[in-house]
Amino acid sequence: MSPADGARSLFASCFGAAPAGVWVAPGRANLMGEHTDYNGGFVLPFALGQVTAVAAAPRADRRLVLCSRQQPGLVVDAALDDLAPGAIPGWGAYPGGVAWALRAAGRKVPGASIAIDSDVPAGAGLSSSAALECATALALTELGGSGLVPRPELAAIARRAENEFVGVPSGIMDQSASLLGRAGHALLLDCRSLESCQVPFDPGSAGARLVLIDTRATHALTGGEYARRRAECEEAARLLGVPSLRAVTDPAVVDRLADPVLRRRARHVVTDDNRVLQVVALLRDPARLSGEGGEVYREIGRLLTQAHESLRDDFEVSWPEADAAVAAAVGAGAFGARMIGGGFGGSVLVLDGPGSRVRTAVSEEFARRGWTAPDFLEAIASDGARRAA
Ligand code: ADP
Ligand code: MG
Repeated sequence: MSPADGARSLFASCFGAAPAGVWVAPGRANLMGEHTDYNGGFVLPFALGQVTAVAAAPRADRRLVLCSRQQPGLVVDAALDDLAPGAIPGWGAYPGGVAWALRAAGRKVPGASIAIDSDVPAGAGLSSSAALECATALALTELGGSGLVPRPELAAIARRAENEFVGVPSGIMDQSASLLGRAGHALLLDCRSLESCQVPFDPGSAGARLVLIDTRATHALTGGEYARRRAECEEAARLLGVPSLRAVTDPAVVDRLADPVLRRRARHVVTDDNRVLQVVALLRDPARLSGEGGEVYREIGRLLTQAHESLRDDFEVSWPEADAAVAAAVGAGAFGARMIGGGFGGSVLVLDGPGSRVRTAVSEEFARRGWTAPDFLEAIASDGARRAA
């Protein structure tokens, strides 16, 4: 059953009626640019085919009543007019925070009954949180008669929900990818100007494909390591006399930093920003794409593996399961692979060529080490949030 159908049938069993509509929003994977967002740099995410669906109908009692197939038995019931950060514990804070942030932005929000279903794995670094926020944001704006809110504005509202209502200090990438994604494209996002543009991205046309490996190691983005990396980047920028590390384009400049840790952190950010632009240049080169698309994806694969090494050795946010998955995938013939997300758990993105044995190799390696078996997911660049048919 698709998440849209799942949400529709959950709505019927929770609320005994049909919803007024169903809205879906995808999770995302980030092709290149990790820990560059809060440094004002570039990221290159794309929307996944996996989505979170929100079936919703307006209510007259100014309450927000929520149920989710992924949280069985836990119905959330909150008064719309009493919403404030801290008011809803647990998962209800994501949709509740969206209602709160929409109202704070001056949008009309009605009371609503909401049923949720999803095939985006939660906590795997694929941004199930943004998928939930963005589907809720579309549902509530449409039910509230707010008309079409411009997508970048909606992304900022959903981000505010996550930052201020849920309390997770994430950047704008996840919500932008979920709302602005387009099938067959990646989204180049400039985190300094917040400008974005679509870049053609269709590995399938060149016989390549993307596979996500959920390493089943849990991540804790709210943990101290994330805050420490941010502080280290700010300190490196200050010592280099620039407003943010985005301003540095020549990796040699970071050698001026005396502290070896700050030097490594800055080197990752500067080289990863460069890798985003290198990938974009490869994808935009019509001569190379039409003739030997396979070679373009081979080069992108090499950049992915370089990025992993940079995240592992310079930024020091990788984890053993990710390192083993990348090594096994590349050893089995993949074009390249890297950890994605904040680090310390979550998923690995593999750019795979024809005829490789990535699944078998990675599964065998995990079994050999006695780790929980990894999950594999096909990653296809898909359309962003929309109303379901
Ligand atoms: P990620 O965004 O990488 O998947 P997060 O920790 O940011 O991981 O968000 C996961 C959290 O979002 C879950 O623990 C849950 O609170 C909430 N969430 C995501 N999807 C759903 C869903 N379908 N139903 C209910 N809550 C969800
Ligand atoms: Mg998240």
